[in-house]
This record gives sequence, structure tokens and C-alpha cells, in this order.
Amino acid sequence: MIAYDLTCANGHSFEGWFEDRKAFLSQKRRGLISCPVCDDTDIAQLPSRFAIRASQAAVVNDGNPSPEKLWERIGKQLGDFVEQNFDNVGCNFAREALKIHYGVSEPRNIRGVSTETEEKVLKQEGVQFFKVPLPPPPDSDS
Ligand SMILES: [Zn+2]
Repeated sequence: MIAYDLTCANGHSFEGWFEDRKAFLSQKRRGLISCPVCDDTDIAQLPSRFAIRASQAAVVNDGNPSPEKLWERIGKQLGDFVEQNFDNVGCNFAREALKIHYGVSEPRNIRGVSTETEEKVLKQEGVQFFKVPLPPPPDSDS
């Protein structure tokens, strides 16, 4: 059995259980799935069920987290992702970003720190980048 989060054309969301994905698609095609609220058979599957469930579970575990807390958590997950998938170029961020921009370096994901002046230059050169507030590394206090 497989569970899908579904929504009707009127925006009601509900859960449907199916033998497998094929069963879901065939029932949907034949109009056998209808909204429990308004009986609409124009049903769509909601994306990223996993993400929705995961965040709900996280909320439950924590009692009643403040929006700040949630942001902190999202920031941390984003930070972990960036850490694992982006090459740390440290203070050379602006220089590396320009090199990649002009095809001198291989295109890749990079992260690092930049000064305001460097960011201005990057913007003038049309280099796409975005800033993420990351917690400082543990040894930055010493
Ligand atoms: Zn409905």
C-alpha cells in the first residue's frame, strides 16, 4: 500500500491509499477518486509528501517551536547541505566566483566569505550568488 497526499480542484487536501502508483493513476483516470469534502474528481497529487511529513514530525517532537527555532533548524540543514556539496574556498570566494564566471575555472559549487566591496564587484560583473546565514565554525571564538 502507498499513501498519497491529494488535493482537489477546490483546494481540499486529503490522503488516499492505493495498492501502488499504477492503481492510483488508473483510478484517477477513471474518476474513481473523489474529494471527501466536495466530491470533485479532478484530483492532483501534492508534491513532496516526504518533506511535508518530516516537517510535521519535527514540529510535534519539539512541542511548540517558535518561528525563530524553525528557521534555525532550516538554516542548519541548509548549512549541512552547503557544507557537503560546496567547495570551501574561504576568503577567495569572490576571486573564484569570477574565475568560474569567466570560464577560467571549472564550473562548480563554491562557498566562502566575501567582503561588501567584493560583493559589489560580483554584482557589477553579473555573477550569480546568494548569501546564507550560517553558524560560525566552532573554532571562531578562540
Ligand atoms: Zn474538494
